[in-house]
Amino acid sequence: MEHLLGSADTPVRIAVVGAGPAAFYAIEALLKSPGLHASIDVFNRLPTPFGLVRDGVAPDHQSIKAVTRIYERLAEHPQVRYFGNVTIGRDVQLAELQRCYDQIVLAVGAPGDRQMEIPGEALRGSAPATAFVGWYNGHPDYRDLAVDLTHERVVVVGNGNVAMDVARILVRDVAELAQTDIADHALAALRTSRVREVVVLGRRGPAQAAFTNAEIREFGELHGVDIIVDPADLVLDPLSAAMLDGNRVAAANVRTLHALAERGATGQPRRIVMRFLTSPTEVLGDGGQVCGVRVERNALVPNAAGELTLVGTGAYDTIAAGMVLRSIGYRGVPLPDVPFDARRAVIPNVDGRVTAGVGGAPIAGLYVVGWAKRGPSGVIGTNKPDAIATVASMVADLPQLSCRAAGDRAPAAIEQLLEWRQVTPFSWDDWRKLDAHERERGADVGRPRIKVTRVAEMLDLVGKAHVT
Ligand SMILES: Cc1cc2nc3c(=O)[nH]c(=O)nc-3n(C[C@H](O)[C@H](O)[C@H](O)COP(=O)(O)OP(=O)(O)OC[C@H]3O[C@@H](n4cnc5c(N)ncnc54)[C@H](O)[C@@H]3O)c2cc1C
Repeated sequence: MEHLLGSADTPVRIAVVGAGPAAFYAIEALLKSPGLHASIDVFNRLPTPFGLVRDGVAPDHQSIKAVTRIYERLAEHPQVRYFGNVTIGRDVQLAELQRCYDQIVLAVGAPGDRQMEIPGEALRGSAPATAFVGWYNGHPDYRDLAVDLTHERVVVVGNGNVAMDVARILVRDVAELAQTDIADHALAALRTSRVREVVVLGRRGPAQAAFTNAEIREFGELHGVDIIVDPADLVLDPLSAAMLDGNRVAAANVRTLHALAERGATGQPRRIVMRFLTSPTEVLGDGGQVCGVRVERNALVPNAAGELTLVGTGAYDTIAAGMVLRSIGYRGVPLPDVPFDARRAVIPNVDGRVTAGVGGAPIAGLYVVGWAKRGPSGVIGTNKPDAIATVASMVADLPQLSCRAAGDRAPAAIEQLLEWRQVTPFSWDDWRKLDAHERERGADVGRPRIKVTRVAEMLDLVGKAHVT
């Protein structure tokens, strides 16, 4: 007799790939689905869970990380198992997951970065903000990133919240950073940093800046830091000025920038210089090392349709700097055997159902949520309605899936496969031990935690051998 998938007799077997916000909101929606019986296995590339909440959110924004308490409760639900330190597409292939699970939810985020595509980008001292953020947050991939803070000026390219985080961390009072969970290696480097000025470049005007008002207001509250805004940059073209009427964030940003411009320099030891309508055209080098950025002044002009477009004015100047961090967006990266929309850098989907290419037919049992689904935009909370929508598709599809061949649906099957592959999964209990260890080390010195930043050390701490 055939049992309906998702019933008490035949719980639906679900694999969630990733353990960031999108993954946890999908798990929450699945567990809350009325009458649905699911057994959920979570696979995460790193031993540590929480994706960008641990590795992206700035260490001086601790309160935002409190959201992980909700995720912890979900991970500890009896229907959920956690397999950290397992990379799908490397340790386990998609086809293998498809044999073991009825439905797979890809929640892999968008860990790549965008390039400026200008000369000099590959020079030493030029890096994506993704790497710098990973470095100060203790992401194991960036543990050994060479970050040279012996220069006085850094240029940050971009006008989003990540650019603002990066600029702030570079000049923030180290005594304040020392009270956060910033990685120890970053704290040590920042203690001896000679960076005195960060120039933030926005290619468009202040009315088009992508940062939230909280981020720019926070600049004004930084101890020992002047915020320099040229009042001439705040003189808006008529279309930008009109835009402020319908955009509360932009209007607030322009107001805050006016207040900062009025305050001007007050003799603080460090400064952030906000430059608008300025694009980098070349990263300049000396002996292979960044020594500056050539920039062009832009103008916003209306096109035939009356929309603002950005044009270079042909007026150039050079900013001397020892480091350039481009913060112009994260980018999805292809997952082996999973369709990828290279233009939008997302996994193609309709309502969260992964399709065989853009405009293709849905692939039975394969779904996507979060940044991998819609691209790298939105705050943590944006991933919740997004995940709920995908889970609605998953639940709606269950009757059709019940006809599928059973495959190897025994919960032990995946554990045997991992053992056979000599992959050492990091369990939720392992994470709890590591978490307690990090918190204890932090508590001794008045910090929320001191992060362990090497995978081998994480495995050692819980008594697991490290297989490379
Ligand atoms: C620098 C930065 C700061 C931010 N600060 C804030 C903030 O202050 N407030 C706020 O609300 N939002 C903030 N955000 C946005 C927020 O972090 C994102 O909206 C959210 O993390 C996206 O969730 P996600 O689950 O789609 O991706 P992610 O959080 O990136 O999670 C992806 C997960 O997939 C895993 N993974 C990837 N590939 C594989 C694989 N092949 N196999 C197994 N696992 C895999 C990763 O290990 C990770 O756990 C910030 C973002 C960045 C980049």
